[in-house]
Amino acid sequence: MAAATAMRRRGGGGGMDDDKMVFETTEGVEAITSFDAMGIKDDLLRGIYQYGFEKPSAIQQRAVMPIIKGRDVIAQAQSGTGKTSMIALTVCQTVDTSSREVQALILSPTRELATQTEKVILAIGDFINIQAHACVGGKSVGEDIRKLEHGVHVVSGTPGRVCDMIKRKTLRTRAIKLLVLDESDEMLSRGFKDQIYDVYRYLPPDLQVVLISATLPHEILEMTTKFMTDPVKILVKRDELTLEGIKQFFVAVEREEWKFDTLCDLYDTLTITQAVIFCNTKRKIYYSVFYFWIRWIG
Ligand code: AMP
Repeated sequence: MAAATAMRRRGGGGGMDDDKMVFETTEGVEAITSFDAMGIKDDLLRGIYQYGFEKPSAIQQRAVMPIIKGRDVIAQAQSGTGKTSMIALTVCQTVDTSSREVQALILSPTRELATQTEKVILAIGDFINIQAHACVGGKSVGEDIRKLEHGVHVVSGTPGRVCDMIKRKTLRTRAIKLLVLDESDEMLSRGFKDQIYDVYRYLPPDLQVVLISATLPHEILEMTTKFMTDPVKILVKRDELTLEGIKQFFVAVEREEWKFDTLCDLYDTLTITQAVIFCNTKRKIYYSVFYFWIRWIG
């Protein structure tokens, strides 16, 4: 479970409420405050506006330009900041849709995130006829093979399934020019390190790498030195990581199976009228809603 960050959904008022975030960036990184000024392909720009975005979010303002110029980028961004759309936008800008080869690969820690990224790419890239496929565990391998053999420009997947597809030679890597490692800290904490390194070994040497992570522990920095060349850094200043006016508390729950009871204890102790609870899988949401309901009627 994670604390909610304040943001406004797409559409309506024109942007996200993150203008006050303070960044530490590599010299020369500018905040470009409109999508029009980013040199994006016309049909892609049309897709962005059609999707309901009016103005780039803070991370989009800083990271889009270096990525579409081909630089390696380390971006510190949490979910809710517009990072998924930033990936979708830059991937759509980078690929050449006249070729049917996979040119961009996105690795994510969960099936849900990989699938969500695929959906945003398909939506934003609608007018450029982008073909994307989510390569995730738990789905039929046959469907992956069929889709990949038919030809797609982008693969968004979890490290295990992507690695498997590469080793079967179903996912051909020779035309991949961009690798995006989304929620890298989460991928490492879920034990995907070896698979990420494995995937990387199959990719062409002149690869562009974009790494996104909410935190930058030692293992992430080690990965950046192995995979990246002179990366542009877009980091959130330390004291900006938590929002003004929001108090944050944590309960160190030692075991996964104790989380639900801990949450119920909080409900029994505090007066909570409204709450948003973030979970990292659909399964956990169904489970929690079901057991909350049982407790409520019991
Ligand atoms: P993300 O962090 O990419 O998952 O985005 C969080 C939410 O903000 C999603 O509902 C996005 O559709 C929305 N969003 C992303 N970028 C923008 C933007 N530039 N303007 C308005 N909403 C956005």
